[in-house]
Amino acid sequence: MKTISLHTGRKNALIDITSHVSQAVAESGVREGIATVFVPHTTAGITINENADPDVKQDILDHLERLVPETGDYAHDEGNSPGHIKASMMGSSATVIISGGQLALGTWQGIYLCEFDGPRNRKIFIEVR
Ligand code: ZN
Repeated sequence: MKTISLHTGRKNALIDITSHVSQAVAESGVREGIATVFVPHTTAGITINENADPDVKQDILDHLERLVPETGDYAHDEGNSPGHIKASMMGSSATVIISGGQLALGTWQGIYLCEFDGPRNRKIFIEVR
């Protein structure tokens, strides 16, 4: 398993980690298989979406903000319930098929770390088989 550490600079952000995952695949030597990307945090997630138009990232963040506002009637006394809820909405992992030694992503797809309670130091685990 490979671990990536990075610092997220904002409260909410989608950070493209595709190159890190591609590098892990290259280092593994696996030609046909699966890459699993997992984030071991409760207020961060993993998603796959468009990597071409940055407005898509912003629309996702803005819409999540409207669905789960920063202030509201939350019970959790740590004050970061919106981050927990958004993290569950995105999920904590993604699985990508490896074909010919490459991630079999669509032309416009990228793999994103979703930060919902930053800025923080985050870890991402990548397992290639
Ligand atoms: Zn919390």
